[in-house]
Amino acid sequence: MSFRLSSAVKTLQPSATIAAAAKAKALKASGVKVYDFTLGEPDFNTPAHIRAAATAAMDAGHTHYTASGGIPELKQAICQAYERDYGLKFQPSQIVVSNGAKHAIHNVIASLCGPGDEVIIPTPYWVSYSALVELTGAKAVLIETTPDSGYVLSPEQFEKAITPNTRLLMLNSPSNPTGAVYPVAALEALARVAVKHQIPVLSDEIYEKLIYGNSEFRSFASFGEDVQKLTIIVSGVSKAYAMTGWRIGWSIAPVELTKVIDNLQSQQTSNPCSISQYAAIAGLTGPQDSVTAMHAEFIKRREYVLDRFRKIPNVKFVEPGGAFYIFFDVSHYFGKTLQGGKVVHNATDFCTALLETAHVALVTGDAFGAPGFVRLSFATNIETLGQGIDRIAGFLNPK
Ligand SMILES: *Cc1c(COP(=O)(O)O)cnc(C)c1O
Repeated sequence: MSFRLSSAVKTLQPSATIAAAAKAKALKASGVKVYDFTLGEPDFNTPAHIRAAATAAMDAGHTHYTASGGIPELKQAICQAYERDYGLKFQPSQIVVSNGAKHAIHNVIASLCGPGDEVIIPTPYWVSYSALVELTGAKAVLIETTPDSGYVLSPEQFEKAITPNTRLLMLNSPSNPTGAVYPVAALEALARVAVKHQIPVLSDEIYEKLIYGNSEFRSFASFGEDVQKLTIIVSGVSKAYAMTGWRIGWSIAPVELTKVIDNLQSQQTSNPCSISQYAAIAGLTGPQDSVTAMHAEFIKRREYVLDRFRKIPNVKFVEPGGAFYIFFDVSHYFGKTLQGGKVVHNATDFCTALLETAHVALVTGDAFGAPGFVRLSFATNIETLGQGIDRIAGFLNPK
């Protein structure tokens, strides 16, 4: 029996990062030691006081449906965290708590976009952005940013891409996959263009707590009331609190849009996990020293990885200012003979050959709209990183 699929899903591809991780897992299962750097999540366990809050929530009987957009206590905790950390004041009526930030992104796009609409997405972009836009029948308008600009979309590029059909600009700073953090002035310049043309901006701020060196995180909602009226912040507890499996994220938007998002979610999934919501409260309002400790570990790993990569000839990269990835250009090696006699011509072939020959798993830049590049996640311990980078260097420049 063959099914006639909806036009919406017919061209949908599986998430490339999840697919790459699955390939690495399959090789591991066959008994091979694999250096897996595809992970898009912290390797740490969720801090103990957060896990304890989940147990307490279960024991207290918080095991039922909640309000579809999340419990008031969690919305309050989210408001408190933004005021404490950034001096930003939001109302609980602006928040919908979802099944992870990815779900929040879907909610926003599905609420604003449909056939004939356009969404501006700077490349390199996170894998799901274009897929979620195209699911609604809208068009993803991809605008290239390059290493030379530090992967920053200029206000001129943004303005030029705007048409009468533009419904949304999607930003992600700090960025997955590049680690780029927009300078404050660059963000504000984009905010001015958004206000001038009244274009809503979805600002994916999921890596807000993972910032390095001189980089500075600024929420897109921090540039004044006229900007805030157009801003939809998306964030969550996955990355900062090592809570990817708990599936708690949120959107913060003007009240009228938040009502629409809440309606959509109430029909589609109802509330996110009740127990996870209580755990998220403990994360946001409890001691923040575990966030600091995990950040400190990421700082060490980043320095180690940068130091090692500087010594690999002909590999180019921009030092990541945030998140936990290094996104590097391997195009110099295309057409050359690599370890095991392998010759590759694009980043996807490169990842396949690297996995087969050196047993190192990376994600191809093709998945992020950046041909010639590959992404390594440093959300793993330094010993493993060291051994894996030895293997990458050996694969590129065989003796
Ligand atoms: C991890 C990630 C998300 C989604 O996180 P959730 O686990 O769904 O909360 C969203 N955006 C980017 C850029 C990410 O890397």
